Amino acid sequence: MAGLVGLASGSMLGAAAARWPDLDQSFLVGRSACASCGRTLGPGELVPVWSWLRQRGRCRHCGASIGWLPLVAELAGGGVAVLAFATLDPASAALATLLGWWLLLLALIDAEHGRLPDVLTLPLTGLGVVVAVAAPVPGLVDPLASALGALFGFLLFVAVARLYRAWRGRDGLGHGDAKLLAALGAWLGLGGLAPAILTAAILALGFALASGRHRADDALAFGPWLALAGFVLFCWQLFVGAG
Ligand SMILES: [Zn+2]
Repeated sequence: MAGLVGLASGSMLGAAAARWPDLDQSFLVGRSACASCGRTLGPGELVPVWSWLRQRGRCRHCGASIGWLPLVAELAGGGVAVLAFATLDPASAALATLLGWWLLLLALIDAEHGRLPDVLTLPLTGLGVVVAVAAPVPGLVDPLASALGALFGFLLFVAVARLYRAWRGRDGLGHGDAKLLAALGAWLGLGGLAPAILTAAILALGFALASGRHRADDALAFGPWLALAGFVLFCWQLFVGAG
């Protein structure tokens, strides 16, 4: 059940990410349309995963490629909910799913547009601190660790970005990444920063090697890997805290 809701949520998050930042109401209440030919998609083309597979990732009318992102969005949206509800109590799972879907939206926007909007990262940071203060479920970091995590997450990434610029003579890591790391620091605490960065780096490196995209000049899309690492580590933190 959580998985099905997750698939549908992932589908909506994918649609929102594709249109970002020109969001209107249509991705929630209206009908999606092909970005290439503009044809409105029928109900049969909006079934998560199944539609993508049946159409082999193409528009049924004009044959334009839809790309992998809608499928990845749907599977990740479902995966977030399944992982959370399979391993955690319902209240903890709901909180973890909220974080997971928020991070998924950020990851999709970063993958599609190469940026991490402040309007999503800054509230997520604030929410992390608020959650740490309110402590609605066991296993959360204490408020001080959360606030320090947000502060040092931001400063750490700014410092790394400065070093990178001095070394390579150009920007490799954006300030959006710094704010995402601040958000993860708020949710995972100061002690969660190093594991998050390390996990994200291993995932990014593994993907780069597996996909053959390991030229140093390629832009570093670190946001999606940070988001994935942050979600998994948060689930782990709640799982250990509850046990
Ligand atoms: Zn089309």
